Amino acid sequence: MTHDTESACKACTESNPVQEQTASNGTNKCKKGKRQPKKKGWYDYLWIWPIVFFTLGFFNIMFAWLGMIDFLVPLGFAIFAGNKRFCNRYCGRSRLFDLLGSKLKLSRKKPHPKWMSSSPFRYGFLVFFLTMFGMMIYQTYLVAAGAQSLTEAITLLWAFNVPWEWAYTAGALPEFTAQFAFGFYSLMLSSTILGLIAMAAFRPRSWCAFCPMGTMTQGICKLKKKN
Ligand code: SF4
Repeated sequence: MTHDTESACKACTESNPVQEQTASNGTNKCKKGKRQPKKKGWYDYLWIWPIVFFTLGFFNIMFAWLGMIDFLVPLGFAIFAGNKRFCNRYCGRSRLFDLLGSKLKLSRKKPHPKWMSSSPFRYGFLVFFLTMFGMMIYQTYLVAAGAQSLTEAITLLWAFNVPWEWAYTAGALPEFTAQFAFGFYSLMLSSTILGLIAMAAFRPRSWCAFCPMGTMTQGICKLKKKN
């Protein structure tokens, strides 16, 4: 259950800042079953953001650095405010899944299997994701140290190398910044592909059930709540 508008039920959001981030059908019915009037905010259009991000990165890989916004902002909300406001309101990716799955009817809208939102799977996927992130940082380090040359390719689903050399022209910035950009774009694209598959097979936002950012921020919020 999620709230995605300014008019989200205050009783719910205040009493439980750590909300389940699983499937949403686009309604804004609150936890207590009351319908809230829907008021459109600028963040309702954030589904545009992933499209802009991937388009820019297709032509110039250095724009992949902008993806750090999706990495740092949710962590910022969780660490400093102890909430999942990014998930509930500002996440462009989940809004895109909602749009494609609900409005464009590209989702079967079936409940996802229980294991998908189980703790072992979610935390296991988080560990996998962070390991891949760590390897990407290591590759960046190798290029920075001159131990490896720049790989002008992206890796899809952590397995398939796809040449992407048109998107990079050597310039004033050091090559390791491009290596990071190729790696980060790969990570973002791979996770979006997984999210699209989950969207088509299950409910539009089924990816949220095991999204590493959602798992991380939920964990942080729980820890903060305890202290
Ligand atoms: S769980 Fe992930 S994809 Fe879902 S709203 Fe949160 S950050 Fe976005």
